[in-house]
Amino acid sequence: MSTTAPQADAPVEGATWWAARVREGDMSAVEVIERHLERIRERDAAARAFLFVDEKGALERAAAVDRARADGAALGPLAGVPVALKDLFVTKSMPTTAGSRILEGYVPPYDGHAALALAGAGGVIVGKVTLDEFGMGSAGEHSSFAVAENPWSADHRVGGSSSGSAAAVAHGLVPAALGTDTGGSVRWPASCTNLVGLKPTYGRISRHGMIAFASSLDQAGPMARTVEDVATMLSILAGPDRHDATSLDTPVEDYVASCREPVRGRTVGVVRRAIDDDRVHPDVRASVQRALAALADAGVALVDVELPSMDLWVPTYYVICCAEAASNLARYDGMRYGRRVAGADLAETIERTRTEGFGPEVQRRILVGTFVLRKDSYDAYYGAAVRARARISAELDRALATCDALALPVSPEPAIPKAREADDPVTAYLRDVFTVAANLAGLPALSVPAGFATSDGATLPVGLQLVGRRLGEGPLLSLAGAVERILGAGRRRPGDKAP
Ligand code: GLN
Repeated sequence: MSTTAPQADAPVEGATWWAARVREGDMSAVEVIERHLERIRERDAAARAFLFVDEKGALERAAAVDRARADGAALGPLAGVPVALKDLFVTKSMPTTAGSRILEGYVPPYDGHAALALAGAGGVIVGKVTLDEFGMGSAGEHSSFAVAENPWSADHRVGGSSSGSAAAVAHGLVPAALGTDTGGSVRWPASCTNLVGLKPTYGRISRHGMIAFASSLDQAGPMARTVEDVATMLSILAGPDRHDATSLDTPVEDYVASCREPVRGRTVGVVRRAIDDDRVHPDVRASVQRALAALADAGVALVDVELPSMDLWVPTYYVICCAEAASNLARYDGMRYGRRVAGADLAETIERTRTEGFGPEVQRRILVGTFVLRKDSYDAYYGAAVRARARISAELDRALATCDALALPVSPEPAIPKAREADDPVTAYLRDVFTVAANLAGLPALSVPAGFATSDGATLPVGLQLVGRRLGEGPLLSLAGAVERILGAGRRRPGDKAP
């Protein structure tokens, strides 16, 4: 680990940087992959990011990239770049567990959209990374297999549920990873590890082959060290897909160009109530304010916006995500995929499979979801949540009619300390207070490195959250690009001295 301050003009060794090495012939794709596989062998025992590494397959795919280059074929934007997938994306040649014992041993018969699109752009999927079971959690602790470590602090969690995706990039094992975000699971671990993480507009990226948690909220989201890398991945993944009827058939913009566009004349709506909330750590507040000041210096107009429905966000999200989870997870019965624990008859087999296969957080959500969907509680809970969701969505759209993006913290506090008192579920759920609204409204949102917080003696990264208009990924990436260039916070690596 380096102990010098990061150089303001040195290139960041991100996904596009590695792609340029291969394209320009500085290194072969096989060399790039070998180097990263070596890092995985050396560091993953400490990072605990990977659940499965496909060394042989990755080297074969890299060799194919090198052959294509030798033949003079056009190389994709990620040619030769190692990528890790959250183990919620199905992959034909690799096991897919969703972080759950119930899918242990399952090897899907097909590649989903993410695996196909990334490979189509020359990306080399090196393996599958850990997560909270089915994406349910915020600290990575609800994985049945591996709890990823945060390279910024041995005493803090990496953030979840895309904990392996964040750890794999933050530990330098791969330059880019794909996560999923149902209520913040890309933005929050990105914020905890000084990465850029984007949750696109609902439907911008096909969900084909992405194991469902809450179908009306789930989106895949790229995580990487730079805004340009995230934009590059979005360009590859976005677009209509005949396998997902909710994928949007709207043109895919040049997102890489967007992240370099000037921001002068843009308007950002400042969600004062979130920033000034008593629960917000003073260094989180200061980082967000510094990022906003930087945008103002770059010519962005800041306006205050009111979002009176904020108190409804967490309860609405948890009723809806549990209802959808209860329904989506009904398919895991031991008959079709993964694990089966035999009982005396069919009913007992299903019961034992689900009791032993699902961890406690997943069982809790299935129970809550089943309760809120019961005939006699449906209207008071699920129906009420659907109505609240419409109100929240209308309110965000109204606020975004006056600005290009909303600015607020990702979460009230920096990374979660390991040594905290065991959380009751509600305390854990309340950490999602600032992220879930974007999912409820289907809007794009990202986290971009904005500063650092000192907490329990550790220096922990803090992201700024920006929420954009429906399909407003372009302006969102422009604003994030400006924050990145002006603040330079994302350049700092674990162990670096403050610049
Ligand atoms: N922390 C939230 C939850 O536990 C979000 C999870 C996610 O985005 N996958 O539901």
